[in-house]
Amino acid sequence: MTKKILLLPGDGIGPEIMKEAVKVIDTLKQSFGFSCEVEHALIGGEAIDQKQDPLPKETLDLASSADSILMGAVGGPKWDNLLPDKRPEKGLLRIRKAFDLFANLRPALLYPQLAQASTLKYEVVSNLNMMIVRELTGGIYFGEPRGINLKDGEHAAFNTMIYHEHEITRITKVACEIANKRQKRICSVDKANVLEVSQLWRQTTEDYVKTNYPEISLSHMYVDNAAMQLVRNPKQFDVIVTGNLFGDILSDCAAMLTGSIGMLPSASLNDKQFGLYEPVHGSAPDIAGFNKANPLALLLSLSMMLRYSLESHELADLLDKAIDDVLTEGYRTKDIATLQENAVSCSTMGDAVQAALQKLS
Ligand code: NAD
Repeated sequence: MTKKILLLPGDGIGPEIMKEAVKVIDTLKQSFGFSCEVEHALIGGEAIDQKQDPLPKETLDLASSADSILMGAVGGPKWDNLLPDKRPEKGLLRIRKAFDLFANLRPALLYPQLAQASTLKYEVVSNLNMMIVRELTGGIYFGEPRGINLKDGEHAAFNTMIYHEHEITRITKVACEIANKRQKRICSVDKANVLEVSQLWRQTTEDYVKTNYPEISLSHMYVDNAAMQLVRNPKQFDVIVTGNLFGDILSDCAAMLTGSIGMLPSASLNDKQFGLYEPVHGSAPDIAGFNKANPLALLLSLSMMLRYSLESHELADLLDKAIDDVLTEGYRTKDIATLQENAVSCSTMGDAVQAALQKLS
């Protein structure tokens, strides 16, 4: 069946890296019989400039009729002075909310070819391959009441950390499904020694896994210890499941174990496996327009899309292999090149992946 993919290039380096994704999609179509239709739409700063809205209705309509969404990045200094509600990043938050994209998947995978890019010792990170599953639409980022009050001449600010059982079980289910295709090990991260919300989180994950996925080994860890263990011995983890706030912090930490932000993909999914796929990095305004960006995080996001939303596991494996091959051949954009290595441009990296894919056909 023909799949519909909506491309949202966005701002900064977004359009440059998206061009490389289009090359790869074309190769998947021409050489591997991948049947898909591609449409483009506006999001972020570009959308503000052209439509006065970071998520125009046309984009939302196209997204609703798509099977999946691939996004570049949004934001940049040009729009930094706008009110929070009008900023490019609001477009991203709104699209996540509109499709109830509650499950954020962030793999942290270290390519042996890039081991020197990590700040940690080789033996600590070599062959690292873990997945963080972060709850994305609940917890303290969305809890009410929230605000800043003035009382007795002093400001006080407050937020609410709240999770309902159904929010905990649905993210645990996502983690279980992923763990079942890996080592069947999940570590749930919380702060149950202090927070009631974490006590409910712990009890709910425990009950849910025991009842529904008895084959999975579930452990629990306090978030402070998890932060320490991630840099001490990250390879002890297979899948981590955690709430919005803890996941935000731990996933950045885990991501950087692998060296470069230019290599890190992500997926945000709802319970129908509909997803928005995007690199972890932002719009990199400092290098935008210079054809210097690393397109691999976006190409790895495309691979995640093929695997998680489009059920094209074989194509995802092929794309992963093509990316691995170009790294083995020595292609490096500036962010992953050592001082001794010559950096290639964004488009050269995209061409190399396209050629490596064609070789696999
Ligand atoms: P950033 O990720 O854009 O850049 C951080 C550093 O990493 C920069 O030096 C940049 O050049 C480098 N970098 C990022 N991606 C790269 C790539 N693919 N190849 C090579 N180098 C890369 O983070 P920032 O500078 O904090 O934010 C810039 C803008 O992006 C801001 O407006 C921010 O709000 C936005 N942002 C958007 C998203 C998103 O769209 N999901 C995420 C984070 C930040």
